[in-house]
Amino acid sequence: MNPEEVLKQVSEEVSNCTKCELHHSRNKSVPGEGPANSDIMLIGEGPGFHENEQGRPFVGASGKFLEELLAEIGFSREEVFISNVVKCRPPGNRDPQPEEVKICTSTYLDRQIAAINPTVIVTLGRFSMNLLMPNAKISQVHGQAVKIHGRLVVPMYHPAAALHQGSLRPVIKEDFSQLPQLIADAAGTPGQEKKQEDDEPTQLSLF
Ligand code: URA
Ligand code: SF4
Repeated sequence: MNPEEVLKQVSEEVSNCTKCELHHSRNKSVPGEGPANSDIMLIGEGPGFHENEQGRPFVGASGKFLEELLAEIGFSREEVFISNVVKCRPPGNRDPQPEEVKICTSTYLDRQIAAINPTVIVTLGRFSMNLLMPNAKISQVHGQAVKIHGRLVVPMYHPAAALHQGSLRPVIKEDFSQLPQLIADAAGTPGQEKKQEDDEPTQLSLF
């Protein structure tokens, strides 16, 4: 299967998945969207109210803010792949549980990452960050590029956190503003990227 076919297959499976508890309360599952050849893959936490209604990622207030952040660095949302750790909305916006994260990521997100093979993965919030950097604290590592298994990973605050906590707005903007340079560096001089720590994923097989 080529990357487009893998993504299509994943979306079809997600649309009627019953592998974890979250399928009971969802309206629409949200597989993620974007081009199969995206340089940038953004990984959020899970669908919220609006995403659950529409079946699309980041379409509520945090999605609007994410679009602004992307626009400031010259990207539209159509140019990046946007996905989530879990594909169905946790009831009442509770945190996704470890079992749900494990089953959903190992069944779907891993395959999306492998198919897209992005230059950089931007994790939005602590759930997606902790998949790749299990022990990291977002307040300490946000905006810092890490190389994990040869791929650049940049942990960022979740746009919703920045919306709720005004002091984080300039921080997330500054972190996003570095992305174009990080991508250029990764493309031009392999192995020369800023490398601050190599926190191996221990729980999940994301690469
Ligand atoms: N928050 C997320 O983490 N993901 C979405 O898709 C929307 C809001
Ligand atoms: Fe399936 Fe993931 Fe939805 Fe759980 S969250 S039902 S594993 S698609």
